[in-house]
Amino acid sequence: MRINHSQIDKVIGEVLKLEYERIVDSHCHIESDAYTDSERIYAIELSIKRRIIMISSPLTDDERYIALDLSRKFEKWIFITIGSHPLYNEPVDRVINFIKQYEREIVGVGEVGLDFSPPNNSDEIRMQQIKKFELFINIAKELDKPLVVHSRSAGKYAVDILLRNGAERVLMHSFSGKAKYAKKGIEAGYYFSIPPTIAYSPQKQKLAKVLPLEYMMLESDAPALSPKRGRLSYPWNILFSAAVISIIKDIDIMDVIKVTTRNAINLFRLRV
Ligand SMILES: [Zn+2]
Repeated sequence: MRINHSQIDKVIGEVLKLEYERIVDSHCHIESDAYTDSERIYAIELSIKRRIIMISSPLTDDERYIALDLSRKFEKWIFITIGSHPLYNEPVDRVINFIKQYEREIVGVGEVGLDFSPPNNSDEIRMQQIKKFELFINIAKELDKPLVVHSRSAGKYAVDILLRNGAERVLMHSFSGKAKYAKKGIEAGYYFSIPPTIAYSPQKQKLAKVLPLEYMMLESDAPALSPKRGRLSYPWNILFSAAVISIIKDIDIMDVIKVTTRNAINLFRLRV
């Protein structure tokens, strides 16, 4: 499906004039060092002005403390999830201690999961990743927190492992698998967040077409996954996702905003 950028810009221009109450970016990295301090402040202030609630997932020890501070400073606007990315080799004990120590201040476990994109697809690496993933699935269950799952080149495996381990509260972020595997997740009540790359990714467009809105969320994955290739991204690019979903599903963008926001508030039990 070819989606024309001027059509998307038009929908975004209109939605910015509308009085939506709030909108959730269900997955971003606002504490990332890809932003300078002034870029980060700009990103947060403009996001709040646009009533964007951010769920941020720090990836390193330093970032975890920065994100924790931001969530305290911008209460009700920035929430955090803590996990260990499949491609980050770090002592997981430290991450688990952090999760337990700040349990009441975190809204989820993640991002965790699998990344089998080359060269991370040897049997040995796959086994290590699966072991680590299962460990965090069990922590999320024990603490009754939702999981934010990364599953690059491993969508099918990630869904199977979640089901096998009895995971119930799940957000599959930027799912790269086939729609039929996503459907298996939907049957188990899992949610799927759609990044701004839907502007040019046929796989994401297909996913948005077949998944019911009741199981969808919006995510920027900022500073990554810009709708314009190679650029630094910001949380308000979820408006790209919302606009393209509304075009693909031929529904009102306000409904996309309302339903995806409600889904995020429910899954993460956000106190907003
Ligand atoms: Zn991410």
